[in-house]
Amino acid sequence: MTRHLAVSALILALLQPGIAANPSSVNLDGYSPAHSAAERDWEAKFRAVPDPKILRDNMQRLSARPHNVGSPYDKDNAEWMLAKFKEFGFDAQIETFYVLFPTPKERKLEMLEPTKFTAKLQESPLAVDPTSSQTAEQLPTYNAYSKDGDVTGPLVYVNYGVREDYEQLERMGVSVKGAIVIARYGGAWRGIKPKVAAEHGAVGCIIYSDPRDDGFFEGQHFPDGPFRPSDGVQRGSVMDTDYPGDPLTPGVGATKDAKRLDITEAKTITTIPVLPISYGDAQPLLAALTGSVVPDSWRGALPITYHVGPGPAKVHLVMKSNWDIKPIYDVIAKIPGSETPEQWVIRGNHHDAWVNGAEDPISGMTAVLEEARALGELLKQGWKPRRTIIYCAWDGEEPGLLGSTEWVEEHGADLNQHAVLYINSDSNSRGFLYASGSHTLEPMVNAVARDVPDPETKLSVQRRAQLRRIANAQKPEDRETARGADFRIGALGDGSDYASFLDHAGVAALNIGFGGESQGGIYHSIYDDFYWYTHYGDPEFVYERALAQLGGTMVMRMADADLLPFDPAASADTVKRYVGELKTELKDKQDKVRERNREIEEGVFTATADPTKKSVAPAKQDMPPFLNFAPLENGVAAYERAARRYKTAFAKLAEANPTVWDSADLKAVNQQLILTERTFMTTEGLKERPWFKHQIYAPGAYTGYGVKTIPAVREMMEEDKWQDADAGSVIAGGVLMKQAALVDSIAAQLEKLVGANPPATKMAKKRARAEEGQVSGR
Ligand SMILES: [Zn+2]
Repeated sequence: MTRHLAVSALILALLQPGIAANPSSVNLDGYSPAHSAAERDWEAKFRAVPDPKILRDNMQRLSARPHNVGSPYDKDNAEWMLAKFKEFGFDAQIETFYVLFPTPKERKLEMLEPTKFTAKLQESPLAVDPTSSQTAEQLPTYNAYSKDGDVTGPLVYVNYGVREDYEQLERMGVSVKGAIVIARYGGAWRGIKPKVAAEHGAVGCIIYSDPRDDGFFEGQHFPDGPFRPSDGVQRGSVMDTDYPGDPLTPGVGATKDAKRLDITEAKTITTIPVLPISYGDAQPLLAALTGSVVPDSWRGALPITYHVGPGPAKVHLVMKSNWDIKPIYDVIAKIPGSETPEQWVIRGNHHDAWVNGAEDPISGMTAVLEEARALGELLKQGWKPRRTIIYCAWDGEEPGLLGSTEWVEEHGADLNQHAVLYINSDSNSRGFLYASGSHTLEPMVNAVARDVPDPETKLSVQRRAQLRRIANAQKPEDRETARGADFRIGALGDGSDYASFLDHAGVAALNIGFGGESQGGIYHSIYDDFYWYTHYGDPEFVYERALAQLGGTMVMRMADADLLPFDPAASADTVKRYVGELKTELKDKQDKVRERNREIEEGVFTATADPTKKSVAPAKQDMPPFLNFAPLENGVAAYERAARRYKTAFAKLAEANPTVWDSADLKAVNQQLILTERTFMTTEGLKERPWFKHQIYAPGAYTGYGVKTIPAVREMMEEDKWQDADAGSVIAGGVLMKQAALVDSIAAQLEKLVGANPPATKMAKKRARAEEGQVSGR
């Protein structure tokens, strides 16, 4: 890239509608006026580098063969990326951990009654799709961390297999005790299904992909379209949610000599055997069920009448694994910071897949790699990031966030001291920007997204995402919210490598990418490959380029800032909304129980039930008590006050004495800002899952990927544990008070800096010493 081209790219970018109009293009948040102009210039140069052709070539290379944990190509990819990072000018190395990774030894699923049927448990290669026939290297279809078992029992269909589905079953007079359940994918993370089934007494769990959810009901199936063919199977981990990472080393890095639990002590392996199947294999089983016809919302798209059972279908399920310890290879690549090397800006994506994984994860990984190449180009041109930048290619994400979790656990003390933030991505395709994470980063996300052009509309990706929210809003007030200056980012639950950073280490985190225009049904199957992606994912690789532009600009914006652009006000505003939600949720719950109890007294259920069909009237429930939200409300109010104070001082920076920008005191403010996310943690963690330390965001114990904000209160309310919910309010309220005190003290420091009497800066101190005739030796 020549300088001339880079400059025209900058001019072009500034002329984009929706980009030039943005006032933040005048001065970047957290940058001195002079530094802001230079930063804009570097960032524009950066965004001109990512190249669709290279992105395509790298995807083809990385997804050429199956590369699951423990496979030869998994290691090969890690070594290839290591060489690439070094070539780009990074200081790179591979960090190896040793983790428990089960692979199938024996799998069997057969129907014994009323007819005999043996499931195929095999995906078919397709002639048009070259990598689909690499059968020898493909992992069989299975759910990792399923307990070994050989079970026989009557079959029961449980819809998505979440807790509400079992309440419905109870109303229909159906028990799953001693049964093997068949659940469809969807509704919650897959690992929740065997967990809830076991809690209700089931002895085995089958999970299948119904064509209604990602097959022919949605569109043409692969290879004629992007959706799941009849023998496509979703592999995946069913590790329980107590903690992610290696089941044998919770809380510590799984290094070679780490102290390991015995497998029997590992709390995250399922308690019943689990097996995923295709709808081709599921159809004969479901067709053999009798008993009640399922409720409307439980119906899939197979051409059968869906019955619940139990039986007469009786099935035999065998699942046995080789429980081996396997090495995993994290590639860690650094650019040392020029001024504040002790502050780390971290960016990552995983590189392991279930099979070839062109979309999951290579579509994210190639974009991240292309960012690294582009930053390397800037280094050659003389760019020097102020802070240390660390690029990570994680291994072992698919089985259970193994690579990132072990790395976070191993480097916990360093991260606590040094980590500014972690930016994650994973699968990426055509469509709309999505961003979730720590709400202190919401303004930064919006500002950077305003600088990245959307490939299809030429609006900024920020504007396009915002307009889509307006289109999708269900209520007028949601539309008005969507029309605000910034779009709101979501909260993070679980589902990719940000989890350990945020939930366990209290490192501010983001998850970013594009999607929504490219649906499909190849997730975790042999068909998620280069052929599929180049036909249905992002055939022009322009959203791949957009992700590289977005992610890399965020890294630069955070790495180069004079004052880190964290905004406590955006966070306080969000937490206040969460507290409001909790209060509404309690009231809704009380109203619901009151109404139901009344209907039971009136005899509504017995009067309306068809006596020829089996049904069980619900039992009366205790009224949910009132809770004490005062600690939370006081915490939020204090946090809001402190955040406002900080925002006011922050705004004054623009007019402050220019010497402020290179004062040592400003550096101290940055170090304090880094600690704000840590302050949301408690050492004890969540009562029932102490590995999870964050008191604002956590994945749900019964949703998996889905987030539970203020989990110590929300989850306990959902589980009718009222005393624990009250105790949670005190804990979370206390955390907010601590946060308020920290933000208040940072605001006070900033006020001093921007005040009428600017405090001594490094330069001024030096000058003063020189005037006093003192000569400093250093
Ligand atoms: Zn992934």
